[in-house]
Amino acid sequence: MKNGYADLHVHTNASDSTFTVQEVLNRAKSIGLVAVGITDHDNIDSIDEGVEVGKRLGIEIIPGIELSAEENEMEIHMLGYFINWKDNEFLDKLKILKETRLDRARKIIEKLNNLNIKLHMDDVLKLTKSNTSIGRLHIARALKNAGYISEVVEAFRKYIGQDKPAYVKKYFISPIEAINMIKKIGGIPVLAHPGVLNNDGLIFKLISCGLAGIEVYHGEHLTLQSERYKELAVKNNLLITGGSDCHGLGKSKILIGTILIPYHYVESLRKYKSHSII
Ligand code: AMP
Ligand code: ZN
Ligand code: FE
Ligand code: FE
Repeated sequence: MKNGYADLHVHTNASDSTFTVQEVLNRAKSIGLVAVGITDHDNIDSIDEGVEVGKRLGIEIIPGIELSAEENEMEIHMLGYFINWKDNEFLDKLKILKETRLDRARKIIEKLNNLNIKLHMDDVLKLTKSNTSIGRLHIARALKNAGYISEVVEAFRKYIGQDKPAYVKKYFISPIEAINMIKKIGGIPVLAHPGVLNNDGLIFKLISCGLAGIEVYHGEHLTLQSERYKELAVKNNLLITGGSDCHGLGKSKILIGTILIPYHYVESLRKYKSHSII
């Protein structure tokens, strides 16, 4: 069996990281990671290049995604691992999600303009490449570049966080739809950062709908939380994953390498995939 460590939750500039997939993997290489899960928000555009670069650098790429979902006003992120990212029906759905994100970004800008903040959609678009899943982090960075705030978190606190004046909801699928979308393309559905939600009832409900794992290790989890979620996973026969949720320079610091999990967790995911009829 392969030894070493994996980071199963990283973003690229296909969603809201400032890093290209090449930059992500160069960093992964310098840290000595043996496997990386590429999990962009509602987007798979970095996976092909990731697989190619990964081969060159000797890093295994686990094709993944992080789908945004919602239930009872709660934003829920569903990770999907070992997905067939080339499935046409899936790609069509992602296209819709991408378009809604663009539309929503325009609405946020409009709200900001009404608050006398002179930000233009172009200021946001120039931070993205074509086909990027545009999100609030891009808008936060544009606000920072324009001098309206000094830190990205300030944008969420003052303007675009939930319940703040320029917040606009995304088009959300339900977590059960997210699970089904992932399963339909042979992927393994894993609930992202459950500690952020702090809702065990939801986990049990999702288990009955096909949830296969939970992200036990995450930068926003306290050690005690990770221990508790590990116990919950073991008791309920759930797969265990973990990752840094690195967004490049998009957040206050570079996170890749801060959360690492032993490679045997990747083996368990693969074993699950090969034994289950998903
Ligand atoms: P979106 O998908 O457009 O709703 O944006 C979600 C992104 O914003 C994710 O990368 C989150 O981690 C980030 N985000 C949400 N709330 C905050 C916050 N308070 N501070 C910094 N980043 C945040
Ligand atoms: Zn993000
Ligand atoms: Fe997330
Ligand atoms: Fe994430």
